[in-house]
Amino acid sequence: MISSDEIHKVLEGYDRKKLTIATIGSHTAIQILKGAKDEGFRTLVICRPGREKFYRRFGIADEILSVKDYQDILNAQFQQELLKRNVILIPHGSFVEYVEAKNIENRLRVPVFGNRAVLDWESNRAREREWLRKAGLRIPGEFSRPEDIDRLSIVKFPGARGGRNYFLANNAMEFEENIKGIKLEDRENFTIQEYIIGIRFYPHYFYSPLKDRVELLGIDIRYETNVDGVARISHLLTEHPNPSFVVAGNIPVVARESLLPSMMDIAENLVNASKALFRPGMVGPFCIESICTEELEFVVFEISARIVAGTNLYMQGSPYSQLLYREPMSMGRRIAREIKEAGKRLDRVIY
Ligand code: AMP
Repeated sequence: MISSDEIHKVLEGYDRKKLTIATIGSHTAIQILKGAKDEGFRTLVICRPGREKFYRRFGIADEILSVKDYQDILNAQFQQELLKRNVILIPHGSFVEYVEAKNIENRLRVPVFGNRAVLDWESNRAREREWLRKAGLRIPGEFSRPEDIDRLSIVKFPGARGGRNYFLANNAMEFEENIKGIKLEDRENFTIQEYIIGIRFYPHYFYSPLKDRVELLGIDIRYETNVDGVARISHLLTEHPNPSFVVAGNIPVVARESLLPSMMDIAENLVNASKALFRPGMVGPFCIESICTEELEFVVFEISARIVAGTNLYMQGSPYSQLLYREPMSMGRRIAREIKEAGKRLDRVIY
């Protein structure tokens, strides 16, 4: 693991007036780069060959570097190129998926916005559960063995693969039936979680260590195929296909105002718990995946401790961000703002 001290040494060598905000060309890159430009930073995007033209057309990247494979970013020579440009990398979902949390923690010497230790806490389901528990949140039940399934459950596989291969099972027999459809090599490390019925909310937060403040910047609901499609014609179906949960898009949502205080409490409890579990705790953007039950209580089943794709809905800000900022404040821009406000104390926002 590369220590915070090593990262802070790298930051000391940076020319603070010539910082470059960079990320991988996918997921929320447009938003991140646009936000960085709005805050006056130089920007760089790292693409796979063929994608350069796409990113050039928006005028948001001052420089484009190409790599054959995203893990080439880890090569010493490539990292040197980034360090020369005083790069701060912004991790997003595809970034973590392609470069992998363990490599970001152990091999990336280039500063990454936020606390890189958090990536392991969000990608390891056991640790994530410990974090949710410590925060005192309501979480779905879990079954360690298929034989124990006694209610509708969702079976999940590791990695941020957008719900791929997930299936539902009411009991061990249905589990065995459905797992047959999954390739042998993909069957390992499944999690069996109680399926919570209700309405999904995915609020996007930013925790600012500089202001010691949690900000709600938007909320979305993921649009998932085929489960959301089946719901539209469920009255016509005599036989229900197995629902799948592959994210295809995001829809904006605002919550009933009376639900907002609990949404803020959940986020603050998570930030406080993170400080106790992995110092200095959560820094910057995060999202919780929650279900609001008919008792209007939130059950939290997942945390993404980085910018999520749903924030792309609010490149010009959201109803919530407009309460806090009198200018269009996307999550991408909020990250850049924190880096700008950290000024000489970049060590307070990068670990
Ligand atoms: P995840 O990979 O945990 O983000 O889950 C992908 C999707 O599966 C979510 O967006 C939900 O639609 C659904 N889902 C996951 N866990 C649960 C749960 N415990 N109860 C109900 N739906 C869930």
